[in-house]
Amino acid sequence: MKTVTILGATGSVGSSTLDLIERDPDAFQVLALTADRDVEKLAAAAIRTNARSAVMADEAYLPALRERLTGTGIDTAGGRQALLDTAAMGADWTMAAIVGCAGLEPVMAAVEQGGTVVLANKEPLVSAGEIILAAAKRHQATLLPADSEHNAIFQCFDASRSERVRRIVITCSGGPFRDWSTEQMRSVTPQQAVAHPNWSMGAKISVDSATCMNKGLELIEAARLFPVPHDAIEIVIHPQSVVHSLVDYVDGSVLAQLGPPDMRTPIAHCLAWPDRMPTPMAPLDLVAIGRLDFSAPDEVRFPALRLARAALDAGGARPTILNAANEIAVAAFLGKRLSFLEIAAIVSDTLACYDPPAPQTLVEVLAVDAGARRIAAERIEDRSR
Ligand code: NDP
Repeated sequence: MKTVTILGATGSVGSSTLDLIERDPDAFQVLALTADRDVEKLAAAAIRTNARSAVMADEAYLPALRERLTGTGIDTAGGRQALLDTAAMGADWTMAAIVGCAGLEPVMAAVEQGGTVVLANKEPLVSAGEIILAAAKRHQATLLPADSEHNAIFQCFDASRSERVRRIVITCSGGPFRDWSTEQMRSVTPQQAVAHPNWSMGAKISVDSATCMNKGLELIEAARLFPVPHDAIEIVIHPQSVVHSLVDYVDGSVLAQLGPPDMRTPIAHCLAWPDRMPTPMAPLDLVAIGRLDFSAPDEVRFPALRLARAALDAGGARPTILNAANEIAVAAFLGKRLSFLEIAAIVSDTLACYDPPAPQTLVEVLAVDAGARRIAAERIEDRSR
């Protein structure tokens, strides 16, 4: 039996993970489930899975959780330190599914335990990739990518012969505004932006998909995870989201992983790895799908792609700044304090006026992250004047 902890159990990825675990209660024992504020969903999941503990990251919601779980025997805790202690409990398998850089310290706490840490939460890898990878090596933790594209690459990438890989091709649905002009995108509402055509996801990643910043973050994530030169990682628009990514070898063989646009497939791959486990999804019906289209991305209409590639190439603090400014800008857009096109503009402005030295430690990453958030927030304030 594998012991499992899910950080961000109430979110989209957290719910998909729970769905798989609950289908096979003999294989998994839930150690801990965490959320930020969604007491009802967390409590219900903790009871269903007979979790040992349930944790609210926002301590203000702990009394409500306690009340809801009275008499169940499930331990409760709340606050940032409780979240970190939970991540450090030493589960065999930890799903990192908190959204944003709020997941960075919990990911590090889990990695330092040396178990298997499954990364859906991509922002920590973007902001502090080298630090996380070094910690994983030091503590002999196994990192597995749950992000569908990176999971696809992981399944196709022959790590023992990485020098024989010519290219990695990351596919991108293009999001809901793939065919819109810049003019049309000027008046996009949060409601339109979160309605992804293929995937059902949390609000932040849905907006990132609409701006294509998600693909930019994934470009950086791929560069962290797979040992290939940056210019050997390409992005290709593939509206059907059936081919999740491809690896091109020097002999001309291109290996791809295909599957339904459902996170339960990559999560199941990580849950069972190196074995396989069944999922409830119907087999892929290629005849019904009929055609698979591919085209080049447009970095003029979607400048986030260009900003992310430049940040990756420049290295140092640039990816951390890119990510932090984007998190602030997306939150402002969702709060109707910023227009859709201004998201990339805020990221660009923040990168242009903030150039701290490369962070070497987690504390330094968090300081750069905080500085970028402050500047991005000021820029948003300036625009609303
Ligand atoms: P959601 O917004 O659906 O869920 C986020 C989870 O994190 C919730 O459990 C939430 O709790 C918790 N959370 C939010 N803020 C904090 C905080 N400050 N401290 C601790 N916990 C917090 O996100 P998704 O599931 O969509 O995405 C999670 C991560 O996985 C993201 O990094 C995303 O980029 C990545 N990812 C997501 C995919 C998807 O299909 N959704 C696909 C690939 C990657 P509460 O519910 O209480 O707010």
